[in-house]
Amino acid sequence: MRFDGKVALVTGASRGIGRAIAVRLGSGGARVVVNFARNQAAAEETAHLVRQAGSEALVIQGDVADPEAAEAMVKAAIGGFGRLDILVNNAGITRDTLILRMTLEDWEAVQQINLRGTFLVTKAALRPMLRQRSGRIVNLSSISGRMGNAGQANYAATKAGIIGFTRSLAREVASRGITVNAVAPGYILTDIWNDVSEEAKQKAIEMIPLGAPGRPEDVAEAVAFFASDAAAYITGQVLNVDGGMLMS
Ligand code: NAD
Repeated sequence: MRFDGKVALVTGASRGIGRAIAVRLGSGGARVVVNFARNQAAAEETAHLVRQAGSEALVIQGDVADPEAAEAMVKAAIGGFGRLDILVNNAGITRDTLILRMTLEDWEAVQQINLRGTFLVTKAALRPMLRQRSGRIVNLSSISGRMGNAGQANYAATKAGIIGFTRSLAREVASRGITVNAVAPGYILTDIWNDVSEEAKQKAIEMIPLGAPGRPEDVAEAVAFFASDAAAYITGQVLNVDGGMLMS
């Protein structure tokens, strides 16, 4: 899958799945705008890896939940590389706890980044894509949003919401040559699991037919497929990358 001449914006790309996506798109020839929230050094490392993979990268700080920052990310792509072809809404957080212990703040913090952030960056990115009459938007959902997960009602609600958002937008922009799809990872080894108990992680592994957690690169390949010319006739879809955890 090649992306020569294409420009991609990946949110939350300083580590984990976002970094793997940035590097995968870069290794396919895309010039990549690497968004990060806090850790500039880590984002610079992602940009370095994109350059090592043979492409160009620029780094931009910004909170996806801030409307001005969302606009600035898209301006950085246009200003730096002249266009925007691929948006990957990857930034996301968890605040896991059982509903009875969940505070309104736990609920709203996850909504802000996972849903409001996806909405704001997408809205900003759509303008150049609509002008170009082409574009690829790939959103990170989760199998939690499809099957539910005790302790993740806030997170699962946002990840299910992303599926509704993906399908609605796919219908809105299909006639303009823009596709919108979602990838739903299962248990992928990244820092997002740092606060989860060993027991819960072991239970998750027992639910995976392929017998092990996935790697960020496994998710990046699925994102790259949706972002590629090969997926030109695919829109409004959700692809699980979960070792078979959820078969439906
Ligand atoms: P991670 O915590 O390693 O990375 C998340 C990234 O998002 C970080 O770089 C973080 O700085 C960034 N981010 C957080 N808030 C932000 C904000 N306001 N603005 C910009 N960036 C922000 O987690 P990950 O596992 O790499 O997760 C990436 C995506 O994949 C998330 O949307 C997550 O929900 C989804 N996902 C992950 C798994 C998994 O098992 N790892 C499973 C399902 C879905």
